[in-house]
Amino acid sequence: MKPDLRRGGPLLLFLLLLLALAGCRQPAAPQGLQVHFIDVGQGDAILVRGPEGETVLIDGGEAEPGVLSHLRREHVIKLDALVTTHPHSDHVGGLIAVLKEIPVKEVWVDGQVHTTRTYENLLDAIDRSGAVFKEARRGGEIKAGKLTFKILHPTTPFLEGPDALNNNSVVLHLTYGQISFLLTGDAETEAEKSILAYTGDLKATVLKLGHHGSRTSTSEAFLQAVRPELAVYMAGAGNPYGHPHRQTLTRLRRLNVKVYGTDNNGTVVISSADGVNYSVSTEKGGEVAFAPQNTPSLRAKRSNPLVGWTSAGLLRRFARPVLASDAKQSPRWLDRPGDCFASLAMTS
Ligand SMILES: [Zn+2]
Repeated sequence: MKPDLRRGGPLLLFLLLLLALAGCRQPAAPQGLQVHFIDVGQGDAILVRGPEGETVLIDGGEAEPGVLSHLRREHVIKLDALVTTHPHSDHVGGLIAVLKEIPVKEVWVDGQVHTTRTYENLLDAIDRSGAVFKEARRGGEIKAGKLTFKILHPTTPFLEGPDALNNNSVVLHLTYGQISFLLTGDAETEAEKSILAYTGDLKATVLKLGHHGSRTSTSEAFLQAVRPELAVYMAGAGNPYGHPHRQTLTRLRRLNVKVYGTDNNGTVVISSADGVNYSVSTEKGGEVAFAPQNTPSLRAKRSNPLVGWTSAGLLRRFARPVLASDAKQSPRWLDRPGDCFASLAMTS
C-alpha cells in the first residue's frame, strides 16, 4: 500500500520546522572561563567569556582579517565590555566593524591622543554605538558580571618617551579561582618598571606577552614577578618585525614557561570549568590538559577525550581527534616542552 503523502505532509513539515529551530538555538554559555587569544595575524584580539555568559573583548586586530568573524562563529551577540589597550591599528582596526554589528555596553580606552584615520573612525564608531565611554586608569576595575579585571596600567599622567603609545597600554589582571591572566597590550620595559613599582602582586598563571613577544618587553624582573606557567604571544607568521624575538623566548625558556603563539598555533583558547584545572585548545595543534603546576600531557587528551572542553563554535572549527596519524602535523611541543622553543627560535 502506498503511504498517503498528503496526510504525512503537515507532520513532516512540522518535524522539519522543529529540526530547523533546534539548529538555530543559541549554544549554551561556557560553564566556566574561556580566554580566546584570537589569531588575527600581526595584532592582538582577546575574547574573555565568563561563567554566566559575560563577554569582554580586549583589542580587535587590524581591519583585515578582523575579529568579527571569530565573534560570529562563537555566537557572541553582545559585549559587556570592549577594551582598547592603545590606539595602534593592529589593536583597534577590527573593532570598528564589531561596534557596528554587536551591541556593546561599555568601551574602555587608554585615552591617549592619536590622529590616524583608523583611530578617528573608531572614536566615531564608539560615539554611534551608544556604549558608555570610560578611560582605564591604574587602580580602577572593569567589571562584567562575575568577572573583575584589575587595571594595573596606565598611570596619570601618562609615561613619556618615544614608545609612549605602547608604554601607556592598558594592562589588566583577571583572576578566576586559582587561575589568573595578565594581559599587557603592547607594554614595554618602561611600563613594566612602572607596574613593578606599583605592585609586587603580579603573579599570573598565563601571561600575554607584551608587544607581540618583542625583546623590548617581558623583562627579566617583570617575568620573575609574574612567574607564569604559560605565555601567549600574538604575532603574524613571517611578520616584518621578527616577532617574537629570540631574546624573549630565551628568557621564558630559562624559567620553563610553556609558550604558545598565534603564528604557530593559530587561535589559542585557555579554558577552566572549575578555576583550578585548565586546558589549552589550539587551532592547529589539538588540546592539552593542565592540572596546577603539572606538566602538560598529550596522554590526558588521548585517555579522556572529555578532558578540557570547548564551546560549540570551537568544536566545529577546531575539534578533531588527536590520533597517532596526526602526530606528524602536530607541533612537537605536544610531546616535549623544550621542542617548542627550538622551532620558535628558528622563526624569530
Ligand atoms: Zn601591537
